[in-house]
Amino acid sequence: MLQVVKGRMLQAMHKGLSRQTHAQANVRMLPTYICSTPDGTEKGDLLVVELCQSHVRTMWVTLLGDGNQSPQVMYKIFSMPGDIMQGKGEALFDFIAQCVRQFLAGISSPQHRLPLGFVFPFSCRHTRLDKAELISWSKGFSCSDVEGKDIVQLLQSAINKQELYHVDVVALMNDTVGTMMTCSMAGKPCEVALVVGTGTNSCFMAMAQQVEMAEETSGQMCVSTEWGCFGDDGTLSDILTPYDQCVDEESSNPGEKRFEKLVSSLYLGEIVRHVLTALAAEKALFIGSNVAVLRTKGVLKIQQVLEIIDNEEGMAEARRALEALGLRPSERDCCRVQQICQAVVSRAATLCAAGLAAILSHMCQSQELKRLVVNVGVDSELYRGHTRFGEILQSVTELLAPECMATLLPSIDGTGWGAAMVTAVALRLAAQRHEVDQVLAPLRLSRADLQRVQALMRQEMELGLGWESNANASVRMLPTYVCGTPNGTERGEFLVLDLGGTNFRVLLVRMAKDGIHMASKIYVIPTTITQGTGEVLFDHIIECIMDFQLKHNLTEQVLPLGFTFSFPCQQLGLDKAVLLSWTKGFSASGCVGQDVVQLLQEAAQRKQHLGLKVVAVVNDTVGTMMSCGYDDPKCEIGLIVGTGTNACYMEEMQNVGAVEGEQGRMCINMEWGAFGDNGCLDDIFTDFDRLVDEKTINAGKQRFEKLISGMYLGEIVRHILLALVEKQLLFRGKPCPKLQIKGIFQTKFLSAIEIDGLALRQVRAILQDLELQASLEDSVLVREVCQTVSLRAAQLCAAGLAAVVEKMRENRGLAQLAVTVGVDGTLYKMHPW
Ligand code: ADP
Repeated sequence: MLQVVKGRMLQAMHKGLSRQTHAQANVRMLPTYICSTPDGTEKGDLLVVELCQSHVRTMWVTLLGDGNQSPQVMYKIFSMPGDIMQGKGEALFDFIAQCVRQFLAGISSPQHRLPLGFVFPFSCRHTRLDKAELISWSKGFSCSDVEGKDIVQLLQSAINKQELYHVDVVALMNDTVGTMMTCSMAGKPCEVALVVGTGTNSCFMAMAQQVEMAEETSGQMCVSTEWGCFGDDGTLSDILTPYDQCVDEESSNPGEKRFEKLVSSLYLGEIVRHVLTALAAEKALFIGSNVAVLRTKGVLKIQQVLEIIDNEEGMAEARRALEALGLRPSERDCCRVQQICQAVVSRAATLCAAGLAAILSHMCQSQELKRLVVNVGVDSELYRGHTRFGEILQSVTELLAPECMATLLPSIDGTGWGAAMVTAVALRLAAQRHEVDQVLAPLRLSRADLQRVQALMRQEMELGLGWESNANASVRMLPTYVCGTPNGTERGEFLVLDLGGTNFRVLLVRMAKDGIHMASKIYVIPTTITQGTGEVLFDHIIECIMDFQLKHNLTEQVLPLGFTFSFPCQQLGLDKAVLLSWTKGFSASGCVGQDVVQLLQEAAQRKQHLGLKVVAVVNDTVGTMMSCGYDDPKCEIGLIVGTGTNACYMEEMQNVGAVEGEQGRMCINMEWGAFGDNGCLDDIFTDFDRLVDEKTINAGKQRFEKLISGMYLGEIVRHILLALVEKQLLFRGKPCPKLQIKGIFQTKFLSAIEIDGLALRQVRAILQDLELQASLEDSVLVREVCQTVSLRAAQLCAAGLAAVVEKMRENRGLAQLAVTVGVDGTLYKMHPW
């Protein structure tokens, strides 16, 4: 049955969390906007005000930032006049503010800004940590004009009326959250709390994304379950006894708070009284006594019930309690009364355990853990000084949620200390957020920034196309001598080389009626070769071709060869391409200024390979456009986002200054990776970009590429992470030797990190490999950095592409252009967004 109750609690929790069903949920799962537990670095003076059943407690806490080991605490209790609880709201808040003024006067506090945390033990609808409307009063309070109002504002106005303008209410929380934070210590966070007193409630750190009523989407957020109302829709009717029904009917709120009425201390004495009444009526108890006294509400107090179940003194206590009511219990009566008390308290403990198990299982599942290890703060009259409730709670929780290991921590100092922690954590997070935003701000581009990039790209394109202006353009706009796109009827067998980044590939391509057939092999070219001499590089390429031809029995044939050579080239014909500069980490000597087809032929001669017939040299962008064009005739743009980035498109011949002829179109290899090399993008570059650029073998070159492509994004992220560590915003400022290593943070990590689920397990695993111990908050921040860098890359790429399509549209005098962009590159293909 307890498993069933746990299952129903889980269902009720999901209902409360979901935006769609929240309004009908009994277990309301209210977001608290508390997104972190203390990390020990919190420091400063804090004020706490706690509204309790019959008093107000004020507290002054000084945190030293020493792991919260030795906080200095002063407090004062003000008893509350009885009429305030049912009086005017204004009077209640005026009274609280007066307590604050008196307290501060008594300790001659300094006048600097004093943050205040307010413990307000009622259900509130938070929209921020410092903005919360009271949903409804409970616990005997019913002040007018408060329900539906923002409690923080009411308190702040009352405090201002006392001319305490330096006191700033920064956080409001209920007592459950206060308990969780009270039990939380640096390095040993408490992520669940359970309160069972006159009422009952629980809270836990949920995955923020699952708390649909709050806007936060990453990290955690504490949710107040409000589980006292569990069962108000009838879900508990099969476990309610006739005694529970009597207790409910006699209560001030029949039909409401059904779970609370089974477990909280306000009702347990009453349940026992109804059981005794029923048994006495059946003559099973108190034979010969006048049992009329048992009809009076509240004659059995929870304290008595707890003492009765105490084994050693219990029987004597039972006798004392019953005799005080004028009953004359026999030995057997005392024994039975003890059993009844035990049954009622045990049931309360097991039901709490079922609820707690539901929370733990939910946490374990949403964090995708096999095993959850967690601390649970408990504040309960039933728990303090009486072992039985705690023992049952612990053992039944283990039974119902065996995948979780919960350590119950009794709350020592009520909730006030926790409220100080909430306030301190909120201040720490706000300060950190501000600093993080400052670090990331230069990477966040506005729409206006992007429009400017688009306009600059357009300008550079025009410069690059012009015969005279070409020399001043950072975008080279190289003619490719490719004048048409395929129509799908092309046939034949071809040999293909693909050089231009991470891998060198040799392919055999057969274009037939039934489609395109390919065989290929990847050959690794070591850095010693890509950065050695040109002769060695091209010799190596020929060796690879010979190996491939041998493996595919092609040594006797001379197939037409297409060479995808993805570096900036001055093309003098389809089969003649002079290398202008190396990019993407290549620097083989003696090649720049040479025709790469010639270099290939010379190497073939050196290797006595006579069967090469190079027909075309193309850039990878052109290759991409053409292969996509084979299937889609509208494909007139090629885009690469891999190791580097580049684009090509079909331009009107009349606009191509470098080539004679006015008719038709020619594909232009933009070489847009170099966009900005003339300084036109300088204000977009951040310090991180400059650091990355300085460490490349082509510093100052390919500046646009270095903001966008796979070879650099990981590096940009690495430099940002180092800056955040330096500013103590990440990994608690601990030095990270591995993160100092160039290239250690790979661009593929960005993909993995950004696609990672709620639990951020990939992020943690990646960081762990780098010997970084990341908290959940660290992981969230690392993800934010990756997202910021990827977003900027994609946006800049889009700004460039926008310039291209706008130019094509205008060229053709169209109001609207429909065009397909063929895209290739592992970054584009693998990155989730
Ligand atoms: P190339 O552009 O050299 O022809 P690719 O298109 O395969 O080759 O791109 C290789 C680049 O893709 C590498 O620089 C690497 O940083 C990046 N990369 C590899 N895997 C991923 C991934 N999963 N997500 C994002 N980028 C990746």
